[in-house]
Amino acid sequence: MGQVSKEAHDVAMRVEAFVREVVAPYEQDPRCGSHGPTDELCAELRSLAKEAGLLVPHIREDGSHFSHLDTALILRKSGLSPLGPIACHVMAPDEGNMYLLDKVGSSEIKERFLKPMISGEARSAFFMTEPAAEGGAGSDPSLMQTTCRRDGNHWIVNGRKAFITGAEGARVGIVMAKSEEADSAGGACMFLVDLPDPAIRIERVLDTIDSSMPGGHAVIEIDHLRVPADQMLGEAGEGFKYAQIRLAPARLTHCMRWLGLAQRAQEIATDYACRRDAFGKKLIDHEGVGFMLAQNRIDLKACELMIDWCAGVLDTGDLGTTESSMAKTFVAETLFQIADRCVQAMGGTGVTGDTIVEQLFREVRAFRIYDGPTEVHKWSLAKKIKREWRDSQTDG
Ligand SMILES: Cc1cc2nc3c(=O)[nH]c(=O)nc-3n(C[C@H](O)[C@H](O)[C@H](O)COP(=O)(O)OP(=O)(O)OC[C@H]3O[C@@H](n4cnc5c(N)ncnc54)[C@H](O)[C@@H]3O)c2cc1C
Repeated sequence: MGQVSKEAHDVAMRVEAFVREVVAPYEQDPRCGSHGPTDELCAELRSLAKEAGLLVPHIREDGSHFSHLDTALILRKSGLSPLGPIACHVMAPDEGNMYLLDKVGSSEIKERFLKPMISGEARSAFFMTEPAAEGGAGSDPSLMQTTCRRDGNHWIVNGRKAFITGAEGARVGIVMAKSEEADSAGGACMFLVDLPDPAIRIERVLDTIDSSMPGGHAVIEIDHLRVPADQMLGEAGEGFKYAQIRLAPARLTHCMRWLGLAQRAQEIATDYACRRDAFGKKLIDHEGVGFMLAQNRIDLKACELMIDWCAGVLDTGDLGTTESSMAKTFVAETLFQIADRCVQAMGGTGVTGDTIVEQLFREVRAFRIYDGPTEVHKWSLAKKIKREWRDSQTDG
């Protein structure tokens, strides 16, 4: 495994101080609602990060990215508060969307759509999932029902989407649709669109268990959206491939940010257990509580190592599809157990909104589903194991 560079280490330390001292005090701000912090609060936090020179801290001034391993440390520190990634502008879905546009976008697309995203002026949304009740794309993206067809030098898109994070208030949309054209039939296309657009109607913002992502998660109708052909990302029919390019690093950056929050939750639970008395001693001196915190310490380290291992694989240029799948599954499941133990160790206080421990519990519950539910990752890993076994039988 490689080493975190000194440059990244210094940035990470600055991010940590900024998040702890400047951002965390906003956690009880009334502008933090059930559909995420308001855009006004996001803008205020971003201007503070800009002042501190910590907006998109994993990208250097010349536009070059730190390595994935470096990014792991920086984003972990940003995650010490649920508002930290928003302030530093490394929050989902923007961070993954910026990565995708950087990798696949033409220079015109980068100039027009990516630039305002990097500067923090524009939020973005990624439109892939569709309503389950209508049999659309979910765990299985090949079920995609949203369609696109050529019309002169435009494409026409029609369909419905669900769970679109940040669609409310976003200025840039990346919309996925299945092609109806013979030369790209069965494949998907990705389009860059300016938002809001009257052809993209937000039906409702869902009430979900999590509350960290600005704009919440929307159900959307797309009715005769006309997109100029030069706003297609990459090639027609290659959309599922591009989704894979986005997916592995985006999964991993989620792990990095939530690990940061879990580390903070462990600090809060430790503080509680070391101060609180019960039955003649401090809670931490009761084995039942001390062991929970000890197990958390072990699990936090295991998550960190799993993330750094996968980041190292991505740094070799490998797509890291299997590794990110393994890391995402392990980290999401383990963080959920860590969060649960923090809540338990803190008794009633653990289930109140007085600390971020309760929010971590809710956020990581959702994380076990988005970016691929645990069972889907395991199912795909099992298929790989079987393939490898079959190959090993024919090799000899
Ligand atoms: C908070 C949140 C934010 C999201 N943000 C976005 C976004 O911005 N853009 C976007 O496009 N989508 C987004 N999603 C959607 C997310 O990607 C989907 O929820 C996810 O892919 C699962 O699809 P589904 O909900 O339709 O579940 P389903 O496909 O209906 O699956 C339900 C359950 O079935 C099980 N399952 C499915 N397949 C298998 C299998 N092969 N083997 C074993 N078990 C299986 C799993 O347990 C799974 O949880 C978000 C979801 C959430 C919860």
